Amino acid sequence: MSGPTHAVVLGGGLAGLLAAHALSRHAGSVTVVERDVLPRGPGHRRGVPQAHHAHLLWSNGARVIDALLPGTTDRLLAAGARRIGFQADQVTLTAQGWQHRFPPTQFAIVCTRPLLDWVVRERILRAGRVTLRQGADVVGLCGDHRRVTGARVRDLDRDETTTVEADLVVDATGRASGLRHWLPELGVPLPDRDVVDAGVGYATRLFAAPPGATTGFPAVNVGAYPAGEPCHFGVVYPVEGDRWLVTLSCTRGGALPAHEDEFEAFARSRLGHPIVADLIASAEPLTPVVRSRSGANRRLYPERHEAWPDGLVVVGDSLAAFNPVYGHGMSAAARCAAALDRVLAAGGTARRMQEAAGAAVDDPWFLAASKDIGYVGCRIDAADPRLVGEHIGQQLRFAESIVEKSVLAPGVCGVVTDVVSLSAGPAELGSSRFLSLMHREETLPRLAGPPLRPEELDVVRLPAYESVPTA
Ligand SMILES: Cc1cc2nc3c(=O)[nH]c(=O)nc-3n(C[C@H](O)[C@H](O)[C@H](O)COP(=O)(O)OP(=O)(O)OC[C@H]3O[C@@H](n4cnc5c(N)ncnc54)[C@H](O)[C@@H]3O)c2cc1C
Repeated sequence: MSGPTHAVVLGGGLAGLLAAHALSRHAGSVTVVERDVLPRGPGHRRGVPQAHHAHLLWSNGARVIDALLPGTTDRLLAAGARRIGFQADQVTLTAQGWQHRFPPTQFAIVCTRPLLDWVVRERILRAGRVTLRQGADVVGLCGDHRRVTGARVRDLDRDETTTVEADLVVDATGRASGLRHWLPELGVPLPDRDVVDAGVGYATRLFAAPPGATTGFPAVNVGAYPAGEPCHFGVVYPVEGDRWLVTLSCTRGGALPAHEDEFEAFARSRLGHPIVADLIASAEPLTPVVRSRSGANRRLYPERHEAWPDGLVVVGDSLAAFNPVYGHGMSAAARCAAALDRVLAAGGTARRMQEAAGAAVDDPWFLAASKDIGYVGCRIDAADPRLVGEHIGQQLRFAESIVEKSVLAPGVCGVVTDVVSLSAGPAELGSSRFLSLMHREETLPRLAGPPLRPEELDVVRLPAYESVPTA
């Protein structure tokens, strides 16, 4: 064993548990410290409030999780999750019109977050190599400005604070991480931080789907169409238990439905197409509306910090959180865990682990932040040279032209889907192969409405929308 003697992971969310699992392959022992008492099955809990909203696990994240924990995707599917082939199994309205349903090149897993978290958590804890200390609030770090040697943990039941010593401490406490307090207490200056905040908000309800609809009808994603200010979005994801998880969202300045009786009307009046409203009009709502406003892109750069203490690594949302519209946070958490695994396998240091985690979140960070800077009202406090400067207007126009072609051309769409699913890096969009497709590939006619088949419309008892291709 070349890894740490004892590693402690702060936070038992997806990033924390996957990181703990990766560490357990190399460390003498691993403890996860989690504030919540974790549910015994798929259940909501206070520490992961976003779990109420629609979540999609892109193929890259699913593959990385399967490599760490073989068979996870199959277990999710067996428990009722859906595998959505992109672009065949989803109808999507983009800012440049309806997407053709080309044969799938990538996929995403959709289910409720409680199910996904439960399947992953159960497998990791059952293996017995990770010790969970729950109902325990991390209140600070131990050590000094040179080296972190553990964490101070308050047992919530007994109201007693003790020290957990470790030669490696991994912070995975998410968007609300206490690092901004804990580091100054040790005399460590805060790392550089970039924020790109389009002011995204969410409102979600679960519905009982009509019989057969979670398998016989595609997922629906109505994006920001027409492009304007503020933008409104809506998704209908088929999830386990024959239910539809419906999340409506907006960028800064947009409204969210506050009450149950406003939900459908909001979907009808604000989204670029009535399909979401039509689907839920006759579906039975199962939950109240849950709202949140936690969608800023925010990234720390500990790997660049010259005085970063030894023995401390930051992963998951604590390291980089993204506008959830792009569905990248869980994949980024998995990529961080895989990065720790790789570095430890090669006998690397904590600093090397931090560099690898920084590299693992860079693609999702760039994809989300570079798109969001185009939204009116987006607040930018970032030094990343790719996000500021005179080239930005040109970069945004190129991105628009890519989407415009991608909805109509299968080759371009395939590359874009590889990038969006994190299966290829954004640099692929500048490759000569891709630029040649952009110039030469033939396009199909534009679609005037969602491309739905008669048998799909039958399942949800909707009349046909205007979907005749327009020249
Ligand atoms: C509305 C919304 C929708 C999203 N949709 C998607 C999506 O479609 N696809 C996708 O991939 N990602 C999505 N995400 C992102 C995704 O939820 C996160 O990236 C993912 O949960 C990984 O987060 P994490 O484990 O780093 O942090 P969290 O999920 O925030 O977990 C942090 C954990 O740390 C614990 N904790 C916090 N503070 C302390 C403390 N002081 N002491 C002890 N424990 C503590 C918490 O209780 C929690 O268990 C979405 C996010 C939001 C907000």
